Amino acid sequence: MTEEPTIEAVPTEYAGITFRSRLEADWAATLNANNIKWAYEPETITLPSGTVYIPDFWLPELGTWIEVKGPGIPRVEKTIELAQTRACHCDGNCTCQWAGGELVILGRTSLPTVGPTPGRRPPYGYANWETPHGPSAYCVTCLHCIRTQWITLRRPWRCRACKRSVEKQPAYRAVDRQVRFVEGIAGLGGLFAMPDLGTPFTANEWPIEDRE
Ligand SMILES: [Zn+2]
Ligand SMILES: [Zn+2]
Repeated sequence: MTEEPTIEAVPTEYAGITFRSRLEADWAATLNANNIKWAYEPETITLPSGTVYIPDFWLPELGTWIEVKGPGIPRVEKTIELAQTRACHCDGNCTCQWAGGELVILGRTSLPTVGPTPGRRPPYGYANWETPHGPSAYCVTCLHCIRTQWITLRRPWRCRACKRSVEKQPAYRAVDRQVRFVEGIAGLGGLFAMPDLGTPFTANEWPIEDRE
């Protein structure tokens, strides 16, 4: 829930839902482009501190929350508390429905293109995320059930949906710029980008469409 007004917080309609900001709608579009099931603000949670909190997205197949936070110095105390509360607290073998417990991700504004033509190809940047608490989250696509998702690198690396191994799949950080962010779909009607989850490339091997 974005309670602090920012310049980005323009209510935006997408998929029949009025989101609180364009950035939230862009995150919904990015999840859709990756066939990730999501629910928007499905639950009002009373945290152990007594604070009432409505996280932005719940991904029911992946046991993952996404709180969208724009630029500036947003307050993330509630998101940190949610992450601490929902993380695995098992002694020894984890018996959580999702390995490591529920995962909480902070969804950020996109990263622009870099390389020979920095910033090119608007409005498409790359998805940008971090974790509010605990280990970093990596984006990986499970080849068994074809679900893109975020995992931590706590072993074993398993698909959070089908529980099969994703150890052989490339796992990307946000700064690797491999996951496309879908921006501005609300005003452009049907335009979307699929993620670039493929072979990692080096600075000399930018994808062809990034070259002049
Ligand atoms: Zn556990
Ligand atoms: Zn899977």
